[in-house]
Amino acid sequence: MLEQDLSYLQPDKLGPWGTYLQQIDRVVPYLGKLSRWIETLKRPKRSMIVDVPVELDDGTIAHFEGYRVQHNTSRGPGKGGVRFHQEVTLSEVMALAAWMSIKNAAVNLPYGGAKGGVRVNPHTLSNKEIERIARRYTSEIKMVIGPNSDIPAPDVNANEQVMAWMMDTYSMHQGRTVMGVVTGKPVALGGSLGRKEATGRGVFIASSEAARRKGLDIAAGARVAVQGFGNVGSVAARLFNEAGAKVIAIQDHTGTLYQPTGIDIIQLLTHAARHGAIAGFEGVQTLNSEEFWELETDLLIPAALEGQISEKNAPRIRTKIIVEGANGPTTPAADDILNEHGILVIPDVIANAGGVTVSYFEWVQDFSSFFWTETEINHRLERIMCDAFAAVWQVAQEHRVSVRTAAYIVACTRILMAREMRGLYP
Ligand code: NAD
Repeated sequence: MLEQDLSYLQPDKLGPWGTYLQQIDRVVPYLGKLSRWIETLKRPKRSMIVDVPVELDDGTIAHFEGYRVQHNTSRGPGKGGVRFHQEVTLSEVMALAAWMSIKNAAVNLPYGGAKGGVRVNPHTLSNKEIERIARRYTSEIKMVIGPNSDIPAPDVNANEQVMAWMMDTYSMHQGRTVMGVVTGKPVALGGSLGRKEATGRGVFIASSEAARRKGLDIAAGARVAVQGFGNVGSVAARLFNEAGAKVIAIQDHTGTLYQPTGIDIIQLLTHAARHGAIAGFEGVQTLNSEEFWELETDLLIPAALEGQISEKNAPRIRTKIIVEGANGPTTPAADDILNEHGILVIPDVIANAGGVTVSYFEWVQDFSSFFWTETEINHRLERIMCDAFAAVWQVAQEHRVSVRTAAYIVACTRILMAREMRGLYP
């Protein structure tokens, strides 16, 4: 029998779903008459738990628990990633799906929010075993996904190869190739140019928009610290460097590098590609991990993990602007401290929306089978990010609230307006 996680039914247990519910409660006073629809956002539209049985290489049969949650589809099909992780739970996937509803609406993409996952540690499995899991999981959720209903994408431990297997499996069921059922595919299989860089590029765009409004000139050697040198952090660091900023500190899981005159990002990229991490890079100082948060900077970019800025380190942070590349890097308690200290925080739902925006471009390109150049993609990404930033910024000014609260006001208003106009069926 499947083990069902029912912790989300306990209101006092503050997991990711509890955090999300708190965030929604905070915006209710700003929603006017639309607030009568608020329960819509507090319940996922559809939650699916599936059994994923596969034969392992040694001949044993293993069963994994899989999930797909469509939180809201008022504004369009569900959209959100799939993660393979041994600690994934239904309540976590519910929260991640809900945050996708908020992100897609905040950036004004014509999507609802969804998310999926399989409770498995892929690092203990062979490639063939992962393929079997990806294919069986896709077969089990095939009745709820589709290019017009819910479009998965890669998340933690799922890459473009996994998306290719998912697309192939879905296509085999349909008897025809359906490119648009997932995004984040290899470029040779209907993927989009610019997708890999999109989140880091979006972080840089959001940073530039924030800096401009704070009268800070990035090109004049603004001091930047970046936590995480993976997909998001390394691209953002390179773009800051190209724009004339000084990236004075980089931290990853292997160490913290510091160079007050600016780290040579191109050389660090070569080093990280060769060694898989930043440790051992020469010609710079190293710090302990706590010192990273105390550096005096103009911009701080958490682009690694959730919960990195907490009430413990928030009081010591000395920066002007924090741009959240990671999902949920700031705890609600830390958020309040940063606000009190006058630090501008650009929330994840805006700052890291570049990835889902270019996923949207991939989906549009797949429908028309007409593919855009990377220049066109980057140009369109910039326009969407800047428009979203401006709309949220205006609401923040009008209501004198944080940019995070403003992003939630914008997103919830768009979702609930769509809900109200559609009315209830039947
Ligand atoms: P990644 O796996 O490519 O890189 C993660 C980086 O974080 C690595 O450099 C790793 O060393 C570092 N890290 C891990 N543990 C750390 C620790 N304890 N201290 C300091 N650094 C640590 O992941 P990514 O794709 O760059 O994603 C980073 C964050 O951005 C995640 O929160 C992810 O959910 C979010 N995000 C990613 C995308 C995307 O398109 N990749 C889109 C939206 C949000």
